[in-house]
Amino acid sequence: MAEYIRAAVLVEPGKLEIQEFPKPSLEEGALLVKMTMSGICGTDKHGYKGEAVQYAGTPREIRGPYPAVPGHENVGIIVEARHPRDGKITDFYGKELKEGDRIIISPDILCGKCYWCRHTYGYTWCDNIRSYGHLDASVAPHLFGGWSDLMYVFPGSHIYKITEDVSDQIAVLAEPMAVSYSLDIAKGHSSMPNEGFSSGDTVVVFGVGPLGLCHVIKSRLIGAGHIVAIDKSEYRLNFVKEFGATHTLNVDQTSIEERKQFIFDLTDGRGADVVIECAGVPVVMVEAIDMLRQGGTFVEVGHFVDTGEIQLNPHRHLCAKNIRLIGQMNLAYTGMIPSVNLMMANREKYDFDKIVTHKFHFTDALEGLFQSMKPESMKVVIHP
Ligand SMILES: [Zn+2]
Ligand SMILES: [Zn+2]
Repeated sequence: MAEYIRAAVLVEPGKLEIQEFPKPSLEEGALLVKMTMSGICGTDKHGYKGEAVQYAGTPREIRGPYPAVPGHENVGIIVEARHPRDGKITDFYGKELKEGDRIIISPDILCGKCYWCRHTYGYTWCDNIRSYGHLDASVAPHLFGGWSDLMYVFPGSHIYKITEDVSDQIAVLAEPMAVSYSLDIAKGHSSMPNEGFSSGDTVVVFGVGPLGLCHVIKSRLIGAGHIVAIDKSEYRLNFVKEFGATHTLNVDQTSIEERKQFIFDLTDGRGADVVIECAGVPVVMVEAIDMLRQGGTFVEVGHFVDTGEIQLNPHRHLCAKNIRLIGQMNLAYTGMIPSVNLMMANREKYDFDKIVTHKFHFTDALEGLFQSMKPESMKVVIHP
């Protein structure tokens, strides 16, 4: 008798249900992974709300798709591997993979053949990108996301074997932490006089949910001075104080003018060196740029889906202050294990496991989604 595997399926916006699929048989080079943890990400919340346009205006623009098994921040144990006849399945660093190994799976499967794959090593700029958690679940073998018992991993996926001492909580943060590579780019710009992100700089982070928190942590660990966190949630503002934020501003208790004044007072009237937008609210960009110093760096990382337009004044916002702008979608697949290493090296100082505040079984994924939308949560995960 065929064995069936249950999974949470986002059937259409606003409709998440549990479905059963036949246990997949593996093509050569594929893996079957027993999930140990799968994150609930901002894009999952947007997908549930029907805000599902990604890579808008590029050849790889996608909508949805629905139905899909969500879950792209995935950690699990290999239960089945179909090695190719001419070799073994290896991880990103060439380590041989076998049943029983615990792995992190990068969300994206890239073609390796398009212009972007061949010119931009390390980044997920592929024209033919396919992403776990966003693949059509009506197509066999269906289990292309982590909100399930088992996940099907295609040949050619980026897989990272992890050691026993790495907790699932740290492993599941590898993906959002790898998104913060924009700060490594900003660091690189600091080789130019008074540009980019230099040691001791004042960094402002708008929106300190899990992604904003990762940017606070990264800013702290790569050498920020003041870090100012801005959010509506007092819970989240208190949370980030434990992970390196030196100041917090509650949006509901301050005006735009007061926040701007606070940043200018903190920086001897110059403005912030780096401002990072993780709130996913388009209009925040205007406020963010207004509090930037001359030659400052603005990092836009909060809009992985299309949420609309804003009005900018090219002279006032861009030219007059000579600002540098880093827009970013997705992550550096070369940044996954470095992110784990960075957290492991600092785990005596910061309790990263604590960042996972809520765990839900995949059959309660809807409850998990709602929890992740509440201000009193940090990283919410699916934990079979
Ligand atoms: Zn994510
Ligand atoms: Zn490609």
